[in-house]
Amino acid sequence: MPFAKILGQERAVTHLRRAWRAGRLPQAYCFAGPPGVGKRTTALALAQAVNCLAPVTEGARAEDACGACIACRKIGGGLHPDVVIVRPEGKTVITIDQIREVAKRATLRPYEGRTPVWILDPADLMQEPAANALLKTLEEPAGASLFVLVAASPSALLPTILSRCQVVRFDPLGEAHLREILAHHGRTPEDTAAAAALSGGSAERALALDVGEARGARDRLVAQVWAALDSPVAILERAEGLARDRAGLEAALTTLAGFTRDLAVAKVGGTSAPLVNADRLPETAQLAARCPLSAILDIFAAQVEAQRALARHANPRLTAERMLLRMRQAIEKGQEME
Ligand SMILES: [Zn+2]
Repeated sequence: MPFAKILGQERAVTHLRRAWRAGRLPQAYCFAGPPGVGKRTTALALAQAVNCLAPVTEGARAEDACGACIACRKIGGGLHPDVVIVRPEGKTVITIDQIREVAKRATLRPYEGRTPVWILDPADLMQEPAANALLKTLEEPAGASLFVLVAASPSALLPTILSRCQVVRFDPLGEAHLREILAHHGRTPEDTAAAAALSGGSAERALALDVGEARGARDRLVAQVWAALDSPVAILERAEGLARDRAGLEAALTTLAGFTRDLAVAKVGGTSAPLVNADRLPETAQLAARCPLSAILDIFAAQVEAQRALARHANPRLTAERMLLRMRQAIEKGQEME
């Protein structure tokens, strides 16, 4: 998929196109941003641009990959020998052997493309020995290779590696773009609206979503978390449940933060304000009426802080405990003020 077809990442795409057209691509990029917003797709668009046999031009200047030549089609189909996505083995870690293989191949001539592109996705799953091996490769630039390290947060990478990468940030997708992507995949308008709202700005999640199921899971999560705030014991239990796996906790935090955001919007804007979870308007308005705005904002701050902590590899269970305790404190403080 060429640059022109990537939705909702204008800032990142403009930056990359400019660097490519000016012939000033760095040796390594770090594409940072939440999951499912187009980082890998954009890395492939960049790989197409640098290897396209018939780029789209404006005047004499190349503007984009054509998306149709043999190189573009092979890259799009994951069949190009010089454009490699390095994924964690067994879905857990990128190993030193994988990086050694990359390092070895990066010193050789490309098989058929101009610029070999190595996409490490997600790069934060590199074990430390693997990261050190990659660092060595980046320190001794070999050939024309371009590296793209995909990561949720740049701070998850070793500082020494990060210092050799140019960071390009990707944003959560806006609802309009999510709807467009979902419609493109043949979803009905009703499903599209609900899935866009429930996906936390991630196209990947929106596409995988069963709306009825997702609403049920969201409602259970919100109810369980709020019920747990009644007692410290319940908080510890709930934290354990939430922290069972890191990805699950990240998704739960996105859901909770979306719900809290709705509370704030309902508090300030009343019932006419647009909510992320529009189907929950009556319950949200009711709860918002009972909570002081300061408590809602404190709760939101606790949730955002938990998201940041996870991005910095904090312990999931401690992060969840801390967040729930802060939510409880915020509610207690709110009650005192009333
Ligand atoms: Zn092409």
